[in-house]
Amino acid sequence: MAETLRCEKCGAPNRAPLESIAAGKARCGKCKTPLAMPQRPIDTNDRLFAKEVLESEMPVLVDFWAPWCGPCKMMAPVLEQLAAKHVGRLKVVKLNTDEFPQPAAPYHIQSIPAMLLFKDGKVVHEIIGARPLAALEREVLAKL
Ligand SMILES: [Zn+2]
Repeated sequence: MAETLRCEKCGAPNRAPLESIAAGKARCGKCKTPLAMPQRPIDTNDRLFAKEVLESEMPVLVDFWAPWCGPCKMMAPVLEQLAAKHVGRLKVVKLNTDEFPQPAAPYHIQSIPAMLLFKDGKVVHEIIGARPLAALEREVLAKL
């Protein structure tokens, strides 16, 4: 099992065992910067969705959002806090569905914000619409 993380310095995607990332022993193959557990939501795209979400060892909460969506903007700071609070336990990923509609297509999302929790590449929970941090956290943690 391994985790794909993008290097904070050069942006290169790296795949490394979760244990060695957590222990600070994994380094970027390109620039040798140590890889760190993400402390903030990660902006994914059509190219990296499979690696960053479907093949992730950690549970992943994916926020499907779009720039024109007001409630999505409200969720941005909430997701920042959620990611910071659960470093190493939960990965928070954001997908701009205007820019990258393709990875969202299989999930038939009718309205956004839609936050889907993935475990081992499968959706285990769907949260539709904005939530305060406490409510979002409760829903997500119940499914981890
Ligand atoms: Zn690097």
